[in-house]
Amino acid sequence: RRAAFAQLKNVPPVTKDGHRVTLMVNAGLRDDVAALDLTGADGIGLFRTEFQFLVSATLPRQQDQQKLYKSVLDAAGERPVVFRTVDIGGDKALPYLDHDESGEEENPAMGWRALRLALDREGLMKAQARALLEAGAGRTLNVMFPMVSEPWEFDEARSLFEAQRAWLGSRGRKLPAEVRYGAMLEVPALAEVLDLLLPTVDFLSVGTNDLTQFLFAADRAHPKLALRYDWLSPSILRFVRRVTGQAKAAGVPVAICGEMGGRPLEAMALIGLGIERLSITPAAVGPIKAMLRTLDRGALMSEMGAMLDHPPQNMRATLARWAEEHSV
Ligand code: PEP
Ligand code: MG
Repeated sequence: RRAAFAQLKNVPPVTKDGHRVTLMVNAGLRDDVAALDLTGADGIGLFRTEFQFLVSATLPRQQDQQKLYKSVLDAAGERPVVFRTVDIGGDKALPYLDHDESGEEENPAMGWRALRLALDREGLMKAQARALLEAGAGRTLNVMFPMVSEPWEFDEARSLFEAQRAWLGSRGRKLPAEVRYGAMLEVPALAEVLDLLLPTVDFLSVGTNDLTQFLFAADRAHPKLALRYDWLSPSILRFVRRVTGQAKAAGVPVAICGEMGGRPLEAMALIGLGIERLSITPAAVGPIKAMLRTLDRGALMSEMGAMLDHPPQNMRATLARWAEEHSV
């Protein structure tokens, strides 16, 4: 099977009825970039920049951040890379960052983390902005902010980047040809004000790992809860259907970058809801491509509308049966 998946490397991710899907990989370390050539993926849909911070004993210097980002872009070549600004804090506390000002956190996943921390730590965010902008000189730079909960947080982060871009420009530094800014949609509150956010973002990416834990109020790492809430539940699927429809209507590309997209049945359901971009773990590229090539997307899309309006008792079983009946 492994060999069969490897053979799909040069085969495009096209559904049986001819729809081209964008299949990207998640990465975090310099060596992860090798996955692009190994899998034939379309790009890196989520580069978790905090990995460099997590493996470092001290705060990575701006030059070291820039070096990493540039080497990733060089290796990716023409393929796009979406850099997510640091998602640290919470359970990814760093010894060299002073977390005392947040106090002891009872619920670190919902705590002072990601963009919340970055907006409070301007120095950290500015250094990362400069590192990314300089690394992206002469190309398109894609920047994505994690844990956006309200539109003003996105606006503030974007403004901070734009101010750094102007500052670098005034000093005669070479800048990216274009900078595109995106938001992760992983806090349910953001979905309720998506109409206010959409005019200001260049792209959206749904982080189903955090989204699931916040939508169900269930710790994503808790062993007793891990199996209780299914990604293929009407709640998650309706959520994805709604935000995908809204984003598409506004002309904003929307991707899925959580682990959910790397499971064949889940990915099938997402495609059936209108998702056209997935960023997944590299090992899943082969299996997902194989699934796509057997999928009649149009048939599934018309089926899923009714399925979600009147959800069956067991959505997973129903989708699995549909897949079997249609030889997916
Ligand atoms: C997510 O929350 O779905 C996500 C992709 O980000 P992370 O797993 O790094 O929190
Ligand atoms: Mg997340």
